[in-house]
Amino acid sequence: MTTASTAPGTDAVPTPEEFERAARGFLDAHAEKRSEETFVWGEGSDSVSVLPERTPEQEAADLAAARAWAQQVFDAGFGWITGPTEYGGRALSGEYQRLWNTAGAEYRTPSLSVYGIGLGMVAPTILAHATDEVKAAYLRRLHRGDIVACQLFSEPSSGSDLASLQTRAVRDGDEWVLNGQKVWTSGAQVSDIGEIICRTDPDLPKHRGLTGFVVDMHAPGVEVRPLRQMTGGASFNEVFFTDVRVPHSHLLGEVNGGWTVALTTLMNERAAIGGGGGGVGLPTSSRLIEVARARGKAGDPLVRQQLADIFINDRVARYTNERAMAKIAAGQLPGPEMSLAKLSLTANMLRTSEALSSLLGMALVADTGAWGTYAWSQFLLGVPGMRIAGGTDEVLRNIVGERVLGLPKEPALN
Ligand SMILES: Cc1cc2nc3c(=O)[nH]c(=O)nc-3n(C[C@H](O)[C@H](O)[C@H](O)COP(=O)(O)OP(=O)(O)OC[C@H]3O[C@@H](n4cnc5c(N)ncnc54)[C@H](O)[C@@H]3O)c2cc1C
Repeated sequence: MTTASTAPGTDAVPTPEEFERAARGFLDAHAEKRSEETFVWGEGSDSVSVLPERTPEQEAADLAAARAWAQQVFDAGFGWITGPTEYGGRALSGEYQRLWNTAGAEYRTPSLSVYGIGLGMVAPTILAHATDEVKAAYLRRLHRGDIVACQLFSEPSSGSDLASLQTRAVRDGDEWVLNGQKVWTSGAQVSDIGEIICRTDPDLPKHRGLTGFVVDMHAPGVEVRPLRQMTGGASFNEVFFTDVRVPHSHLLGEVNGGWTVALTTLMNERAAIGGGGGGVGLPTSSRLIEVARARGKAGDPLVRQQLADIFINDRVARYTNERAMAKIAAGQLPGPEMSLAKLSLTANMLRTSEALSSLLGMALVADTGAWGTYAWSQFLLGVPGMRIAGGTDEVLRNIVGERVLGLPKEPALN
């Protein structure tokens, strides 16, 4: 088995042209090129869900397909293009990543969204804050798709006010012992490791008594219980920790320095969601236009204005996001402007929901069996979750107000 750094032709730094030729060669050999995809009303699947709605069997099959593809991509040298070579990356610039993304989008390949949290949030935090031992143990395997990671932050009484979390970690020699409960943990049911923030000193002010760890999700004492969401599926979970032992080497950052660790993850989370890294986005304009046509409302000036508004706002969000992503690709840390990326996406999802409600009316709430009508209820019911996950709209507006616009800080409760 080859690794990224030893894949043929990857030892010397390729020119962008050589890289793109190799990338397209690999894709031609291993994937099917997408045909010119024009959306045709009534053809194919009408599924437009925001959150995954899969049975455990479908989930296992999707994970197997994603893993096989991620491993092939990694072994050919395209799995971690910008990462450091000692952990399996190729240390190339963001320009090469963009070349790969552009070429890859032209091919039909298995969805890698199961790796979204691991690669978008947990791996960057491990790279920034973990010990060399943990970096060596997990970074290559995460990027190769060998393992899946989840984010264990929220608790029943700690979401927006994350620093009030109560899951305890107590040191015992070379190990820490974890006890408590996390909730809304997306993908915990298929995860191998998790990034967890625990309270290590209850006597310190709440932001200063926290510590981050990488925890083995298969360790004794970890129990994952699925939570069913209002769309019917169960993509997130409650996770219980009872005397779970974590090696001291699996610490992230300093003891009681967990707030800095959590912020690294949260900024990457907003960037990942806003940038579409979680596989969540708006339906295509052509799909929305076809809904208007099918309902006989494509000539209605108000509907036309609504659809144009969605299209324009989507474009503005994409360009703003590309600027933010270019900043990250240039090696800068994601900052408070990442909250704008996530806010723009959810604002556009809301506009889309409103347009669909007026176009579809009762067909959105009563399933008549008509293609492309009731199916949209999955989209509408998923959008509120997106307005909460990764920081609620209200909390992100506070961040933008205070840290981007420089408005006075909200009064703190404690
Ligand atoms: C689809 C989905 C996936 C998720 N995945 C994960 C995951 O993988 N891992 C994980 O750890 N968590 C996950 N979460 C949890 C998510 O991070 C929290 O739900 C979120 O941070 C909000 O916390 P809460 O639910 O406790 O709501 P609360 O914080 O109790 O908020 C309740 C309401 O009060 C408002 N509010 C709170 N504080 C303020 C304030 N200061 N100013 C103005 N309004 C305020 C909020 O906007 C909200 O409307 C997920 C959530 C969803 C919906």
